[in-house]
Amino acid sequence: VGLTETDAVVVGAGPVGLFQVFQLGLQEIACHVVEALPYAGGQCAELYADKPIYDIPTVKVCTGRELTDRLLEQVEPFRPAFHFGEVVAAIQRQPDGRLLVSTSTGRQLLSRTLLIAAGIGAFLPRKLKVAGAEAAEGKQLLYRLPPLEAMSGKHIVVAGDEDPALQAAIDLVGVAASVTLLHRRDSFRAEESTVARMRQLCGEGSMKLVIGQPTLLRDGVLDVADPEARTHALPLDVLLALLGLSPKLGPIADWGLDLERKQVKVDTESFATSEPGVFAIGDINTYPGKRKLIACGFHECVLAAFGAAAIVFPDRKIQLQYTTTSPRLHELLGVSGN
Ligand SMILES: Cc1cc2nc3c(=O)[nH]c(=O)nc-3n(C[C@H](O)[C@H](O)[C@H](O)COP(=O)(O)OP(=O)(O)OC[C@H]3O[C@@H](n4cnc5c(N)ncnc54)[C@H](O)[C@@H]3O)c2cc1C
Repeated sequence: VGLTETDAVVVGAGPVGLFQVFQLGLQEIACHVVEALPYAGGQCAELYADKPIYDIPTVKVCTGRELTDRLLEQVEPFRPAFHFGEVVAAIQRQPDGRLLVSTSTGRQLLSRTLLIAAGIGAFLPRKLKVAGAEAAEGKQLLYRLPPLEAMSGKHIVVAGDEDPALQAAIDLVGVAASVTLLHRRDSFRAEESTVARMRQLCGEGSMKLVIGQPTLLRDGVLDVADPEARTHALPLDVLLALLGLSPKLGPIADWGLDLERKQVKVDTESFATSEPGVFAIGDINTYPGKRKLIACGFHECVLAAFGAAAIVFPDRKIQLQYTTTSPRLHELLGVSGN
């Protein structure tokens, strides 16, 4: 994907990463944002998109999704470069002091500062633990639903029991040559209405439900052990394993930062870590009195942006300006201020 030079890289597009983008923007620092999920919002989007939040200042109530949408709207004037579906895999200090950030797709960002808003870790698909799975990944075995057209005419087995799996199986009916839903038990964690629709399609014969445990994935066949431990061979073109997401701290643990129980230790003056130019904000950090709340994370972003500005503009006197009255901030925000 090539090498891009930038002043700041934000790891994570959860609520705190997004507000960090906004605060960096006010400091005239453009940034790239790397997010493992294919969309923004972090825990708000992944764990409670439709549940209400009541403790965001000035917002009496909003859902996780609404909060994410508002934050995305707020960062628009600063046009951050979002890289969704990529995991920050490695960080290497360069001889000139800058940081070379590499992602899972081979993208390389050479940055003066790094702001880690990685929350409880990168949300990654839970892997299928079956012989042959690793070799088949990305070919016969997929962990995300591709565009439906790509599945046209194929024999698909969907593994999983939550909404994403059942919904994918339902959506594939009529597109794929055949759709089989596979789960180890005949009970599902998906919404009742989704389960009902799945059962209706199975009743009509447009979908098949197989109860069993996959044991081996080989070329064009998945071996499944039924509850009586008899093995059946399920022929398939694609095994779509939608087994949910689990957060993985993964690479952050190997970046040479001072950690305390898997949290990054920071100095509360600017939320700087033990590595110069690297800041940590939101759920990923720890300091005396830390509370894992969105409002606390937002405060941390303000001070981290001042800290980053001191590095990006070492010769500039960084002054506090009000968004209400500063003509420069109005210009950056694209507003008239009247
Ligand atoms: C059910 C529930 C209800 C909650 N309700 C409230 C509430 O009412 N009020 C409140 O204040 N807080 C609430 N919280 C807590 C709040 O959601 C968190 O404090 C907040 O999400 C932290 O934001 P964050 O941006 O730091 O991290 P996250 O939201 O966890 O986002 C981090 C993002 O970073 C990404 N990431 C991590 N590592 C990498 C990597 N290496 N490469 C690329 N991307 C990476 C992850 O995929 C993730 O999207 C709630 C939490 C839960 C689970």
